[in-house]
This record gives sequence, C-alpha cells and structure tokens, in this order.
Amino acid sequence: MTPLRFDRYYDHQRLTLGLQHYAEEYPGLLHLQSIGASYEGRAIWLVTATNFATGPAAEKPAFWIDGNIHAVELAGSSAALYLIHRLVNEYGKDADITRCLDTRAFYICPRANPDGAEWALAERPKLIRSSVRPYPYDEEPVDGLSLEDVDGDGRMLTMRVPDPHGHWKVCPEKPRLLVPRAPTEVGGCYYRLLPEGRVRNYDGISISVPPAKQALDLNRNFPVEWEGEYKQMGAGSYPTSEPEVRALVDFIARHPNICGGVSFHTYSGVLLRPYSYQADSKLPAEDLWTYQTIGAKGAQLTGYPAVSAFHDFQYHPKTVTTGVFDDWLYEERGAFAWTVELWSPHRQAGIKEYKFIDWYRQHPLEDDYKLLQWSDEALDGEGYIDWYPFEHPELGRIELGGWNPLYTLWNPPPDKLENELLPFPRWLVWHNLISPKLDLYKAEATMLGDGLYRVRLAVENSGWLPTYVTKKAQDKKITRGVIGEIDLPKCALLISGKQRQECGQLEGRAYKPCSTFLWLGQSGDPTSNRSFFEWIVRAEENSRIRLKASHERAGVVRAEVITRRA
Ligand SMILES: [Zn+2]
Repeated sequence: MTPLRFDRYYDHQRLTLGLQHYAEEYPGLLHLQSIGASYEGRAIWLVTATNFATGPAAEKPAFWIDGNIHAVELAGSSAALYLIHRLVNEYGKDADITRCLDTRAFYICPRANPDGAEWALAERPKLIRSSVRPYPYDEEPVDGLSLEDVDGDGRMLTMRVPDPHGHWKVCPEKPRLLVPRAPTEVGGCYYRLLPEGRVRNYDGISISVPPAKQALDLNRNFPVEWEGEYKQMGAGSYPTSEPEVRALVDFIARHPNICGGVSFHTYSGVLLRPYSYQADSKLPAEDLWTYQTIGAKGAQLTGYPAVSAFHDFQYHPKTVTTGVFDDWLYEERGAFAWTVELWSPHRQAGIKEYKFIDWYRQHPLEDDYKLLQWSDEALDGEGYIDWYPFEHPELGRIELGGWNPLYTLWNPPPDKLENELLPFPRWLVWHNLISPKLDLYKAEATMLGDGLYRVRLAVENSGWLPTYVTKKAQDKKITRGVIGEIDLPKCALLISGKQRQECGQLEGRAYKPCSTFLWLGQSGDPTSNRSFFEWIVRAEENSRIRLKASHERAGVVRAEVITRRA
C-alpha cells in the first residue's frame, strides 16, 4: 500500500489499508484503533495523532476531527485523511505542526459513516442521506419513485418528463438549460423534473416521491435538543440510537481533554458554528467573541466565510435543525465546535456573493450560465449533462440529463480535491494550539527549620484559552479546576495542606482587551493564568517528593523536589 493520495476517493477497504500503512510507518506519532462498528459491521476508525514521546494523548489538550457522517459527502473523509498526511509529513519541519504534536493531540475519525460512504462509492452508486439502516420503516415502499440508475451508465441524473403543467421550460437564451416557467405563462412546452429512477406501480396519473427507505440523518441523532421524527426528520429512535453516533459520543465523552472539534461535510464552502437551533443572543458573550475570532482566522486561512448555522444556514426560516454534532460538542461538552462545508461549486464558477441555502429559492439566471460554463470548461462537461432521449419503462419517451452532482457539486472532482483541502491543516493546527496548556512555573522545597519544609508547585496556563475553554463549560460545571497532588516518601509526613487539592481554573489571554487604555478599576494584566499549591511537610534531608498538577482539558505537569538544607 502506497501512502494515501488526494486525487481520488477511497472505499472502506482502501481507507483501512491506508490508515494501517500510516500507523505502521509513524508509530511515534499515530495510533489507530476502532471505536465501534457501523450498522453493517464496518470498523469506525479513529487515529490519535501526537508525539507519544512527550506524553500520552490523554495527558494533553486535544482536538476532534471527523468526516463523511453524511453518505455522499466523501470529501469530508479526505479532509481528515489529509490532516493526518500533513501532520506526519511536516512533523519536525513545520514549527507549528511540531509544537502542536509535541504539546497537544488530535483525535481523527476519517469516516464516521462507513456504510453510507460505501454505497456512494459503489460501481452503481446508491445515494442516501446517511445511514443504511432502514428507517423509520423497514418495509420496501410499493408505490412511487425509487431512485436508481435507470440507463445503467453509473450516473444518477435527472429525468425530464414532458408535461403541459410542468414547472420548467427550455431557457430561451441558453437552450441547454432549464428555467422556471413564469407564473401566468401558458402555451409553451413544459417539463417536470424528477430524480432518475423507476416508478413503482405506476397508475398512469400520479408520481409520488416517497422518502427513501434509508431516511436516517446521523447528524440529527446527537443528544442535544433532540426532537423526534414528527419535528426533526431523520432524527432516529432516540438520541444516540445509531451505532455510529453512539461510538462518537461515547469516545468524546470519555476524553474530557477535547477542547474543540471540526466535523467535515460538503458542500457550500462555509465554516458553520453553533447554534443550529437558536440565535447568537443565547451564546455567552465571551464564547461568541471567541467563536468570531476563531472564525476570522479560519476565513483568513481557508477563504471560507464563518457564520452561524441558525442565522445564515437555515433550510426554512420557521424551522430549526436539532440533534446536530457541533451543537452537542459545544452545548453539552463545552468545546468550540464547527461544521465545515467543504467545496463551493458556486465560487468555482465565479459566483462571489451567494447566500448558501437561500440561493436554491432565488438567484439570478446569470449564476446558472456561470455554472454551466464552469462545467464545460473546468469539468470537461462532466458536471452538466446535455439532455438525451431515453425510453423509460414506465414513463415512455423522456430525457435524461442535468447536473451529475456526486463529483461536481457535492464533492470536488478528484483532480481538484487536494487543492481544496490544502488550507485546512493550518487552521486545524492553529485551533488546536489555542487550547489551554498546563505548564510548570516552579517547583520548590524550602527549609523552614526543625525538619520542616515548605513545598510549592506553581503552574500556569500557557495557552490562549482559559482552562475551562468555554463559558458554557464553566456555567455547566463540565470541567473541574486544576488538581494538585503530593506524593511523599514513606518516612515523610504531611503537616499541612491536603494530599490532593483543587485550585480552580486558570485564565488565558483570550478575554484580555486589545486596547492599552485601562479603565479605572480595570485589572490590567494580572497573573490570573498562574496558581500554586503549597504543603508543609516534615521530611529527612534529601527526600524526593513527587508533585503532580493536572487539568482535564489543559494537561498534566509532573515535578520532583528534593529536600535540602538551605
Ligand atoms: Zn453534511
């Protein structure tokens, strides 16, 4: 197996071989494990990336990455694999990557939904939203349209069915395109557009498009504001009812060192942040400011705008999306979490100003021209397929054509994949490096006389974020303060101070002002990122005393002091 390449998409077997290859090649930096099995029994792989020589991942702040929880969003996997690739290839060469792996860890789940991706990658692709588990009903639908590649050419296109009451007509200026018919328009030649498929039990009159038999959406199954099927389609039977979601939630909950995370999806070319289900006014102000700072850095490095899902990425203004991963990681785990929608066909086609989902309701016709031209020139005509006649078994003489979305709209075409992924590792490494980091400030044993010593362990947070990471985590008491422990040799005695004690949270620099004006009463720049533990012990000379400070998110510090006469 050669190293992974980024001009192709990998099925489960090749992805597994690729990950195994990397783990064998870089044992000092990568560890591969399965964190669960999918509905069809495929391993859900997780790569831990850190420099193991500087300590285990669990004792370092960490950052979560996953991809491809939605079946056809294959580039999400590629983004996660690409991070692994860059980390191992640039460790020791790039200063930020080296420092990041020396002091922090990544937990990377390249393919959260291996079954759904396998269907998308099949020779005759079956395109579904997410999990392959039948839901909400496991019976085969008997009526209506069933999506399939009816002409067997390996593409899932659109059917253009002549119909006097159709919504579409040929674009007068560019006859290859279709445009909606005007509200009062009559007398032309009109079409109905339907996804490519067969019509079961066709009665010659009506064609319904029933929901897919696989109607789960794993990104609605997370335990945050979860709503049942009547309110949130695809939500699953109960929060974490699906094995893929359960594996992720369970792993993350058992790793409190995770301070942030990104879930890679496609498409739109946007960095989405919580909430999906409520307005920014519900966010603690400090968390909103920090999200804006992180988003501005992401926008600068990747060229993708950073927006709130609630305010700027809504499917309908009167509904909200619930049970979403990034909301869960932020709201219930108190970590800064993002959903990255990779790839923007619009921007590729030169459409600069467009409003994501709103674009599908309303946009200028020129945008369609630009997309068509982009397909012709940049995609060698692979994106938009000119309409060609087809004798449909139920519908008779129709045409097939239109957008062939899988590797054009929904994912970058393979030859454009690596270029799209290129800027992301830098932002992810930066995001990981802003996490809190517990460091040793000073450890000392001072003789007080009479065989008594004062032992001090002083620690500091050298990271930009406070040790609690988010105000949300602080408000919900998700993370404890720094814990200090003393381990005395047998002959020594603890006179004062507790063997294990807590000193609260350490601030970072994230909430310090950016003006040098100090208001009256304002605190300036005190040492709120620093604290210490103190013990009085009775010990013989030259006793070794072991000290440890730890914080669930900021890591672990160990020190040893020796009692000596002054
Ligand atoms: Zn998605």
